[in-house]
Amino acid sequence: MNNKNMVEIVMDDMNKKTDAALKKQEKLDKIVMDDMNKKTDAALKKQEKLDKIFMNTADQFATLSHCVSHQVGSVIVKDDRIIATGYNGTPMGMVNCDQIFVEYKPEEYREAHTEWSNANEIHAEMNALIFCAKNGIKIENATIYSTVQPCQHCLKNLIQVGIKRIVYKIPYDKAVHSIFLTKHMQKNNIIIEQIKE
Ligand SMILES: [Zn+2]
Ligand SMILES: [Zn+2]
Repeated sequence: MNNKNMVEIVMDDMNKKTDAALKKQEKLDKIVMDDMNKKTDAALKKQEKLDKIFMNTADQFATLSHCVSHQVGSVIVKDDRIIATGYNGTPMGMVNCDQIFVEYKPEEYREAHTEWSNANEIHAEMNALIFCAKNGIKIENATIYSTVQPCQHCLKNLIQVGIKRIVYKIPYDKAVHSIFLTKHMQKNNIIIEQIKE
């Protein structure tokens, strides 16, 4: 056996070992990836279930509203636990919307109601936030579920208190969102999303 052959034999052996090592690594990578994907799928399914539960809860709270135009419910959630709820209405103890607009016809009274509502009613999201402020509940990094898409006023306030995910069900035709706010949300990973029933 000459030297060249010896080198070739050693090289062949090394390549074989490298191939075997690569194949083994590939297999290990696949096992790890499959496991990760399974865990991600399970986490997504759990999140979907939780989203439904919290949105259903927001729906239930909406039924408490006395507003003749929109009945909106909100739930603030942190670490998969409800920390606050709210629905739209006047300050506690005050006259309610349905006592003012007794026979409400949307086509006739919508503008009059909007004016009255702006002056006297608190949106569901704000009522949930106010509850937290009143009771010293931290909401940094929380999620809010709202049955109706937040208006621009609520949205900027939700961002300011540190809410990181905003979930709603019904689009709101008067929700005009600022491009500056949208850009700020993208830059700071603040998610707003609609979930289907
Ligand atoms: Zn109202
Ligand atoms: Zn609002």
